[in-house]
Amino acid sequence: MSETATAPDATYNAQKSMDEIVALCKRRGFVYPASEIYGGINGFWDYGPLGVQLKNNIRDSWWRAMVECPPIGPDGDPLQIVGLDSAIVQNPKAWVASGHVGGFNDPMADCKACKSRFRADHLLALELIFPESDQHFLICGIGEPEEIIEKNKKRIDKLSKGQAGQGFTLSGFNEYTKLNESGRSEFVCPECGEKGSLTEPREFNLMFETFVGAIRDDDAKAYLRPETAQGIFLNYKNVLDTMRVRVPFGVAQVGKAFRNEVTPRNFVFRSREFEQMEMEFFCHPDDAGQWKEYWKEKRMEWYRSLGLSADNLIFREHDKDELSHYAKDGYGTVDIEYKWPFTAPGYGELEGIAHRCDFDLNAHSKANNPDSNADLSYFDQELQVRLQNEGVEKDEIKRRSRYIPHVIEPAAGLTRATLAVICEAFTPTPERKGSKYILKFAPHLAPIKAGIYPLVNKDGLPEVAKKLYLDLRNKFTCEYDAKQAIGKRYARMDEIGTPYCFTVDSDTLSDNTVTVRERDTGEQSRIAIDEVERFLSEKIGR
Ligand code: ATP
Repeated sequence: MSETATAPDATYNAQKSMDEIVALCKRRGFVYPASEIYGGINGFWDYGPLGVQLKNNIRDSWWRAMVECPPIGPDGDPLQIVGLDSAIVQNPKAWVASGHVGGFNDPMADCKACKSRFRADHLLALELIFPESDQHFLICGIGEPEEIIEKNKKRIDKLSKGQAGQGFTLSGFNEYTKLNESGRSEFVCPECGEKGSLTEPREFNLMFETFVGAIRDDDAKAYLRPETAQGIFLNYKNVLDTMRVRVPFGVAQVGKAFRNEVTPRNFVFRSREFEQMEMEFFCHPDDAGQWKEYWKEKRMEWYRSLGLSADNLIFREHDKDELSHYAKDGYGTVDIEYKWPFTAPGYGELEGIAHRCDFDLNAHSKANNPDSNADLSYFDQELQVRLQNEGVEKDEIKRRSRYIPHVIEPAAGLTRATLAVICEAFTPTPERKGSKYILKFAPHLAPIKAGIYPLVNKDGLPEVAKKLYLDLRNKFTCEYDAKQAIGKRYARMDEIGTPYCFTVDSDTLSDNTVTVRERDTGEQSRIAIDEVERFLSEKIGR
């Protein structure tokens, strides 16, 4: 958490075009559609040379903030957090115990006419009532009620056939199904406008199935993990037994997760294969509420350190009807939400900070699960000593010193965070010659930190520039390029978000200085060639 980046100009995100962002990501080697030459595959994306570099930088920043240099706890000491890299495929019994086989479902509705598929709980339904003919219709859509009405103006006119109608809005899955069950209304597909073509919402399990071994029967069925968290719970005892950690402590993991999402959309925001950065923080049940508050603040600070502006970030407590299967009454989840170009002026989830209670450890404990052979309770020696000193009775000490820890889980999406960083950095520059856009990445996240150029590819300049490049590349990701006009080379660097370029020209040969060009302002100044490394270290914070 040492890096504090200056936020790029918080150009109002609603004015940023996702089409332009997606096109820039493709054109400049950040993100490509997976299997593009075969027409792509919905919900899967490949990260190109610059995309993987950016994503790795965000991952490394998280790993550093969690594992290598965890934050200081309320007692003034650094927290204990260790890393893990568990398998993607685990024993399928683990997913039964975790509740994913039985309950990791999203409701989906299909249009029988145009074959579009929708997350039923994302649909907002606007009921139109025509008292004259006692007719009801449900116009469905995604977004604000006004937008849905505006988008469906023609359909509404057609349905009303000149009758005066009354309309009111409904939101949420419950009302949606209730009206459907009442049989009074007919759904109108948000995509093709066909009446009565939407199916009842059906539960759809999001886990990808596979088979382990040569025989493809039910006994060989396994799952690709839908979250990295369970690998941590499965290794909780291993970590306790092999590492010198005591409650409270955390285990962090970064890795791929797979969800057969009903409607993958908004570029990499909701994809079927994505990466998560999750940390399970095991603590005493009585302290869980305070730890949740602690992690809320720390996680928000981290997003700010990526250069996301405070205006674009909010906390949102989950409503009661959104609570996860593991949440008990009174314990909830708070999301950190970002103002995406496709949600603005609204916000969408970036990370969830959940109080998972003792749900997962209980579920994997032999006390509750005949398939498990592990006792996952925790004996708290420090608490025992404290209670003894307080003169608490023996049996009471025994009872209170052994417990199942509660868990606070900051669960972030690495690929989603990468998209947020790209959206924030994306800055159209109609006034600037050469580049149409700048990606104003915080310098420590930029895929390439510096471009090293000879002004012209002759007169002894390439040799000097090459030497500078070879010296710097041990410490910073740099690029040497001797071709094209210098303006074109700068423009490319602006579009991929390189914060600094250093240019060797004929003056360098006599006075040992180079031109520094800054990405955000386009300003140029001169510094001694020997100062370049120190300059970059200061600016990039390494
Ligand atoms: P959502 O409500 O958006 O479906 P979720 O609440 O199910 O997300 P979690 O299970 O809490 O998500 O997962 C933690 C994080 O993983 C999310 O905050 C998000 O950043 C990321 N994530 C979840 N699903 C996806 C996905 N399909 N594509 C990309 N990232 C995802």
